[in-house]
Amino acid sequence: MRRPLVSLVPLLLGTVTACGPSQPPGPPPGAGVVAIVGAQLIDGTGSDPIAESVVLVRDGRIETVGPQSSTPVPDGAEVIDATSQTIMPGLVDTHAHYHGDLDRVRRQFRKQLYFGVTTARSIGADPPGKVDLMLKAHTGQVTAPRMYTAGLGFSYPDGFPPGSPVNRPHTEDEAQEMVEALAEQGVHFVKMWVNRMPTPGMKITPEMRTTVVEQAMTHDLVPVAHIIEEGDLVQLMDLGVRDFLHTVEDADISPDLIERLRDTGTVFSPTLTNIHAGWFWIDHPELLDDPELRAAFEPEALARWSDPAHREEAAASPTLDARKARLAGSMAFVKILNDAGVGVAVGTDSGAGNGSWNVPQGWGTHHELELYVEAGLTPMQAIVAATQTGAALLARGEPEFGTIAPGKLADLIVLNRDPLADIANTRDIDRVMQGGTWLDRTTLMTMP
Ligand SMILES: [Zn+2]
Repeated sequence: MRRPLVSLVPLLLGTVTACGPSQPPGPPPGAGVVAIVGAQLIDGTGSDPIAESVVLVRDGRIETVGPQSSTPVPDGAEVIDATSQTIMPGLVDTHAHYHGDLDRVRRQFRKQLYFGVTTARSIGADPPGKVDLMLKAHTGQVTAPRMYTAGLGFSYPDGFPPGSPVNRPHTEDEAQEMVEALAEQGVHFVKMWVNRMPTPGMKITPEMRTTVVEQAMTHDLVPVAHIIEEGDLVQLMDLGVRDFLHTVEDADISPDLIERLRDTGTVFSPTLTNIHAGWFWIDHPELLDDPELRAAFEPEALARWSDPAHREEAAASPTLDARKARLAGSMAFVKILNDAGVGVAVGTDSGAGNGSWNVPQGWGTHHELELYVEAGLTPMQAIVAATQTGAALLARGEPEFGTIAPGKLADLIVLNRDPLADIANTRDIDRVMQGGTWLDRTTLMTMP
């Protein structure tokens, strides 16, 4: 206990050292540290929140986390008073698409960052030029979420998604070459579309799926499948696929299959928002005046939904009732899986739709959390889906992001209001930090 007194002496004397070796005083122990003090902390693991916390960030990473009463703030730290606010991890969106030229893609990245999406996966629509940009975004060389990419995904000649320039091999040799090309580009995942009930006979064949999955695994790439039918899910699980997009829509999933999903660590990214956004704007035209939503929407989509004639036409769509039933079914699926302990991650399909782009980048990620809560998850469970679960899925195992714990990259959001009281409060963002740096949100949204 005497040591602190002794060490204070040079500090008090400044540079004056009358005796002993001359040593200029070092920086204070908290130099370069950002201390966020007083906020409720939701760490992304599902643990009980800490009511009044201290989070210390140094060199881009979380250094210390704890209750304010027992966590000292080191001298010289930059203190951010976050009393009555909430800190949570940056959001992870496991299912996004980016369209247009590279400048336009960068704008979509910035929209996501504005809304606190600090990590995302571009899943199936990236030709080589876009892959390069995604890989730069993966390593922080671009103002963007930490991006993962699947390059161009796989479908069948005339298969889903119609008209998209994705990989459509005619032979297994061709499929093998296409996976090899992806591996050379340095992608992280191999995506496959296995649709689609309304158009039977146009699905990628079971043999071709086997080739794609086996080749992906040979190259240490993770296979990911868009499925909506139980039989396709089972075949792909037999091949070792553990990462599925959307939900099973043709059957009530059996208890045995649920158990198998859980025991194999399989994770679904259900994309409820993409279904809902097909009519949500009809019910809530007032949102189209919200400045944040207007900025998040692609201009074409905003113009379309802002037109009362378009909303009227969409409201009269003969498929509307069926789509509403689909959403209800997918919400029930999310609840069943979550209750059974099967991994559910947050993915939005933002940027999907070949020009419709109904899901605004970033904004949609928050809407997905709202739909999870509407489906019956607790706000805490929805937050875990959007943070820890998605992070583990993308980073394969022990991720460096997605939770607020010592050693993790400092990706976090400071909220003005409590998301555990109302999940919509995740959108009431005061600040976003990515890799230890506060983002300039105004610039993110206004930069052309
Ligand atoms: Zn998609």
